[in-house]
Amino acid sequence: MSDENELFETRAVHAGQEPDPENGALMTPIYANSTYAQAAPGEHTGYEYSRTGNPTRTDLEDNLAALEGGEYGRAFSSGMGAINTVMNLLEAGDHVVTGDDVYGGTHRLFTQVYDKYDVEFDFVDTTDHDAVADAMQENTELVWVETPTNPLMRVNDIDALADIAHDNDALCVVDNTFATPYLQRPLEHGADIVAHSLTKYLGGHSDLVMGALVTDSEDLDERIAFYQNSVGATPSPFDCFLVLRGTKTLPVRMDRHCENANELAHWLDGHDHVESVYYPGLDSHRQHDLAAEQMDGFGGMLSVELDATLAEVSDVVSKTQVFTLAESLGGVESLIEQPAAMTHAAIPKEEREAAGLTDPLIRISVGVENVEDLKADLQQAFEAALE
Ligand SMILES: *Cc1c(COP(=O)(O)O)cnc(C)c1O
Repeated sequence: MSDENELFETRAVHAGQEPDPENGALMTPIYANSTYAQAAPGEHTGYEYSRTGNPTRTDLEDNLAALEGGEYGRAFSSGMGAINTVMNLLEAGDHVVTGDDVYGGTHRLFTQVYDKYDVEFDFVDTTDHDAVADAMQENTELVWVETPTNPLMRVNDIDALADIAHDNDALCVVDNTFATPYLQRPLEHGADIVAHSLTKYLGGHSDLVMGALVTDSEDLDERIAFYQNSVGATPSPFDCFLVLRGTKTLPVRMDRHCENANELAHWLDGHDHVESVYYPGLDSHRQHDLAAEQMDGFGGMLSVELDATLAEVSDVVSKTQVFTLAESLGGVESLIEQPAAMTHAAIPKEEREAAGLTDPLIRISVGVENVEDLKADLQQAFEAALE
């Protein structure tokens, strides 16, 4: 195991992993086991059954914990599997405060699954701390935070929201999928649990679906492990191996994602066909100063509102050739999508517009290609669809 004093890039490559003591194999193997031999009943190596624990998964869980600067990591078969496990910590009658622009799958889990188990929710603007404090009730057990948010890249103040949660004896959980631990470590800002969709930047290659939770609390980790094993949304050792490979290059990939996104955001800002650009790295971004303080970089996600109709924008995103028209984010390849027609189409138009999620908005996951090719691709798509 690597030393916790090592710097991020070193931990990304080494934490949780040692060469095999018997044969020197450098990489953690894919332990494709459902079960483990015992010397006598109950006399085992620490592994009994792979839903409960698997050595490939353990190395990944230790790696993820080291990256978030936490003690305990747990991996799941999807981001939603991880988020559901946080919700398993609640009881009927509990109340949750969360953002009004929380990830769609999280919104669906809250309103269509937990609602029927009598968990109550308030969706508020989490950049408005008075609104969050006002929403807190005696039975509020959880404040669920995302930052930056999707797709308008609002930045939430983790320290402030964790304080509000703790004043009410509630937990503060931060979904750190968009920022990754390379750019933002919520536990350092008072969060109790960090949640991830590993499907995105941590896996980084659009070739798997997985999730994770990291905490510093032994008590929370024990409860999380109980639900991880009881509910059983655990990942395969093959996928754990892929994420372990992904996290090794997280810092190098994120540097390029940030550099390309920053360049593209500045190029789009002021472009003839562009109404507004949402990117925390722009001076014009509402929480630019907070982002500069809380994050070590502004990330690889940006949204752009075009001066065009829904149909014209659909045409733009259909005409890109380097950008792939697709949902999801965080892979090395650039993706483009139209929230009003795709990821956020399920939200009624009026509600969408009220939240600033207009028809001509496009969301871009900036990949690690050469940024000149990305600019040229957008330019040709604008010209083909809008002129
Ligand atoms: C994708 C995503 C999730 C859900 O993760 P899955 O791996 O798709 O289950 C949760 N939160 C955010 C912010 C996401 O982008």
